[in-house]
Amino acid sequence: MKTIKKENDTGVYREQKALFSSGLKCLTLHSAVFHVKDPIEVHQAVYYGKISLECARALCAPLMTIHSNVSKKTPKKVREQCLQNIFGEIKPFAKKLGIKLALENLSHNSSGFGKNVEEIEEILDIIDTDEEVGITFDFCHALETKVVDELIDKYYRRICNVHMANKAHKPFIKETPELTKILSKLHNCGYEGPITLELDSKTSIEEIKKTKVLFEQLLRRL
Ligand SMILES: [Zn+2]
Repeated sequence: MKTIKKENDTGVYREQKALFSSGLKCLTLHSAVFHVKDPIEVHQAVYYGKISLECARALCAPLMTIHSNVSKKTPKKVREQCLQNIFGEIKPFAKKLGIKLALENLSHNSSGFGKNVEEIEEILDIIDTDEEVGITFDFCHALETKVVDELIDKYYRRICNVHMANKAHKPFIKETPELTKILSKLHNCGYEGPITLELDSKTSIEEIKKTKVLFEQLLRRL
């Protein structure tokens, strides 16, 4: 996973050039997010969502990870209004560009709303009555909030992207029982989408390489 620096409108062209010359494909993009606390801030979340979708289009990414974009501190009524207004704009824009949105489960230390099945259901009931939005299953967040099984059991049909890291976005250098269990569970559910190594920005290239090798071994073994 690579980062395009905050509010840098031309950064995407540098990434586009690097991507195309590498011959690799960009499978997913993580949207810039803004966790709205007050309806007056909705326009900012919409702006972040739309520039991220433009970025996904420039990189030919078919899928974009989104957060609910609402703060966990907002009261239910305000949350509902903000979610309607934000996704009333972002969803049709994504559809026009042919990019699928995938809502990510958040961790308990995130300022955003949407960390477990109950909260994700509340969001989807408001923004996704037509069941067009997929799920980005973040293993690191699910481990931290202890909702790995409940999320997979509920959403295995809708998971279209997996964010992979140990707690605190640390790399997996060695196999752990939790990791083995989740990979076989996803495999048994028929998951065939991307596995995005979403590692802390301080992770060294050596650790990234080791993690990649480990995953290649574990995936071959399934
Ligand atoms: Zn994530």
